[in-house]
Amino acid sequence: MLYTLPPLGYEFGALEPYIDAQTMEIHHDRHHQAYIDNLNAALANHLGLQNKPLSEILSSLELVPEDIRLVVRNHGGGTYNHNLFWTMLSPQGGGEPRGPIGQAIKQRFGSFAEFQHQFNLSAKKVFGSGWVWLALDQFSNLQIVVTANQDNPLMIGLRPVLGLDVWEHAYYLQYQNRRPDYINAWWHVINWEQVAENYERFKV
Ligand code: MN
Repeated sequence: MLYTLPPLGYEFGALEPYIDAQTMEIHHDRHHQAYIDNLNAALANHLGLQNKPLSEILSSLELVPEDIRLVVRNHGGGTYNHNLFWTMLSPQGGGEPRGPIGQAIKQRFGSFAEFQHQFNLSAKKVFGSGWVWLALDQFSNLQIVVTANQDNPLMIGLRPVLGLDVWEHAYYLQYQNRRPDYINAWWHVINWEQVAENYERFKV
């Protein structure tokens, strides 16, 4: 086994009422596991790639052999994105970020409320399956970016700080077609401590 499913770090039901236990269990144990299994299968005969950090592989997909490039993009992206996603949620989450990330958001967007507003607009507009991110560009400026499918900021030269999965599998059991309700609920379980760490780690 190359990649293994990381444990959630909290119970499936710990994010209720914002995200229900059944959604968390299926999302983590089945969807995330499937990305990992498919990525491992693609890398089975590629020892060079097996020894490379996934973030590096996704940052330079052009170096991946063409016959497995799309699988690595989709399932490597799915593996990386979900590895990150669970850590960015917490039963003790929510509220507003403090410290350097909080200041950076205020500086970039004017206020936390304006950042939320812009992020929500982007998340509601995603057509089909994708992610919305708060990401850092090469000058360490914060940007809200949308990626389709399991693409992520690494693939466009950015570094992810915060990400929201807006695939239907992330919310459909509880919210059906009401994606805005899922987005509003998600703000209550954001692990800002982890987001602050991501910001510090990726800031240049
Ligand atoms: Mn997902």
